[in-house]
Amino acid sequence: MNRIEQVMRLAAVSFGAVLATACATATKPAPAAVDTADTIYVGGEIVTMNDARPEAEALAVRDGKILAVGARAATLQAHQGADTRIVDLGGKTLLPGFIDGHSHYFNSLLVANQCKLYAPPSGPAKDVDSIIAALKKFAEERKIPRAELIVGYGYDDTAMPSGRLLNRDDLDKAFPDNPVRIDHVSMHGAVMNSLALKKYGYSAETSTPPGGVIVRKPGTNEPYGLVMETAYLPVLNQSEPMTRAQEIEWTRAGQMLYAEAGITTAYEGATHLAQLEAMKRATDAGANIIDVVALPFITDLDKALEAFPLSTWGTYDKRLKIGGVKITIDGSPQGRTAFFTQPYLTGGPGGEKDWRGELSFPQEMVNQMVAKVYGMGVPLYLHANGDGGIDAFFKAHEFAAADDLTRDRDVTMIHAQFTRKDQIPTYVKYRIRPSYYTLHTYYFAEAHIKNRGKEQAMYISPMRDSIDAGLHPTNHTDFVVAPLDQMFMLWSAVNRISRGGEEIGVEQRITPLEGLKSMTLWGAEQHGEEASKGSLAAGKLADLVVLDRNPLKVNAADIKDIRVVETIKEGETIYRSGDTR
Ligand SMILES: [Zn+2]
Repeated sequence: MNRIEQVMRLAAVSFGAVLATACATATKPAPAAVDTADTIYVGGEIVTMNDARPEAEALAVRDGKILAVGARAATLQAHQGADTRIVDLGGKTLLPGFIDGHSHYFNSLLVANQCKLYAPPSGPAKDVDSIIAALKKFAEERKIPRAELIVGYGYDDTAMPSGRLLNRDDLDKAFPDNPVRIDHVSMHGAVMNSLALKKYGYSAETSTPPGGVIVRKPGTNEPYGLVMETAYLPVLNQSEPMTRAQEIEWTRAGQMLYAEAGITTAYEGATHLAQLEAMKRATDAGANIIDVVALPFITDLDKALEAFPLSTWGTYDKRLKIGGVKITIDGSPQGRTAFFTQPYLTGGPGGEKDWRGELSFPQEMVNQMVAKVYGMGVPLYLHANGDGGIDAFFKAHEFAAADDLTRDRDVTMIHAQFTRKDQIPTYVKYRIRPSYYTLHTYYFAEAHIKNRGKEQAMYISPMRDSIDAGLHPTNHTDFVVAPLDQMFMLWSAVNRISRGGEEIGVEQRITPLEGLKSMTLWGAEQHGEEASKGSLAAGKLADLVVLDRNPLKVNAADIKDIRVVETIKEGETIYRSGDTR
């Protein structure tokens, strides 16, 4: 149905409703105003995530909340008033809005103004030439003036054909007059041109710090563009502060990226105080279009508590909620900094032998940090990737929760990628929710096989075993590490196929319904919001997403091609595909 037909039909329906109401008033009283819907969705597949009623024909919304979910005729009869808007879904599929299990929301404010350079199929960067072409197009479209910094993100060196990597000379040739910085997909480094290297203070005289990488031009000491890990900190420390106007404008742009992905609750996975303050200012200025959960990072916790007293945590204020504390236990498996009980097959990032990775903080310190958060009585979120990192958290839990190891303390283990099979019963016993990262089966499986061997690589993000053990895991993109593409994430959990086309641990595949629950209902549980979000049931918020096809009915292989058509936050459309912004 095109727009005009839709308007005609809407008009007809409204007219019919007026007549019906008029007739009704003649014989019996009009439905009580409190039962009259603002909007009723019909004409599509309504997937509720509510096991008691998995599918419905109609969903009625009033004052931003779900008024009723049910059969078409009964819902229209009970809730259609003179002013009720009837929306024909045209055969499309309506679901609860997606709830982000873990991403780096604050980065979305920045990347909305940066050039997307993921490798195909997530972006255009298939080789050096296509990166330069995408950057030129971006700079022209945005009319970026001479001398202004141009930033790209998502550069994946492992995806470059025959090892031909992007370097300083490529960028200098294309952009002699602008500093250019291309952030690495890991968020732990960047490739820069000469003007950017100069801007951030890198030269032939810069020595490489311990734990850092500065790639040098062959035969010289000149930086060749790529700077990683500790050597990258000067860039992070100098990142340009936003003006107040930009805070608001970029908040809207960043949140639109989430809205376009069908996400109505976003997650800021490790929030430093300055970021939290910027988010608060944008919030107070009314910039938020979706809900955002922020997690102060443990190293900033005392300062965060001074600025945001504990009494203000745990509830939304103008769509911003401080939802708990984040503690990092280890690093990343593809960067060989995740902590394992057994050594990496490929040694350490600096050529170390018998390398198992390292904890981010010593065990004793982790114990104290966990005890502190438990003492506050707020949700705890951990970053742990290696099985050794996960064991280290179990030890900290046994220290900090010694009085009652099995009481629910609202703990979520983010990534949990290299969970061992024998660790799953401990998640159950200690009431820890894993939030997995199945996109690694696509993006990084080859690296994991090389670094950790086939057996461990095949078992990454064991969602099947976790669900079978009774857990409600969530799944996440870790945006901007992977693109904010919820259908691709779902596809990866259901199919587990690598970039090279190899099956990665098929016995850990889950069903599309389980995958959807991990993005909706179980996400709401993770944030302690299952009373108001995560399924389509009367009384919950009308946070909704419309997809062009039903993920429960298409072939599993086609899930990645499903598109978000519309995103609705508390009854208001915040994104519709094809709309110009
Ligand atoms: Zn993350």
